[in-house]
Amino acid sequence: MDNCIFCKIIKGDVPCIKIYEDDNFLAFMDIYPVAKGHALLIPKKHVEWMQDCDDDTISKSFVLTKKLMSQFKNNLSCDFVQIGVVGEQVPHFHIHIIPQKNNHLLPRWPIISYDTPDEIIEYAKKIQGHIE
Ligand code: 5GP
Ligand code: ZN
Repeated sequence: MDNCIFCKIIKGDVPCIKIYEDDNFLAFMDIYPVAKGHALLIPKKHVEWMQDCDDDTISKSFVLTKKLMSQFKNNLSCDFVQIGVVGEQVPHFHIHIIPQKNNHLLPRWPIISYDTPDEIIEYAKKIQGHIE
């Protein structure tokens, strides 16, 4: 994808601080970290959304993430390693890997309320039973 910043990083057209690379994946430091050590893992193949990636890419992404999490836990002074998939800013599937401290106040998503007691059931029914 010509206008994807992560594809430009993969090509070497935009610099990054690499922490892991193989033929199919790249991990590098996030330019706007939410904690010291915040990194991103990306597949080199451009796919915007995680749900559109092939199963092999997803499996390998999470196995690699698990290995990187151990590296973080063993070598940084963190209490646990948070991972996340957001994709609000960059349309190239990526996994955030963030070292965290127990006393760090993680930003919480604001809590909402359903309009009626039945609405939560309606939402559950829409999601249930559609997995192939
Ligand atoms: P998301 O798409 O998951 O909401 O966030 C994208 C992440 O990519 C952000 O944490 C942002 O700081 C990071 N990011 C965006 N552009 C660049 C870049 O050019 N270089 C690096 N290293 N990180 C970037
Ligand atoms: Zn891309």
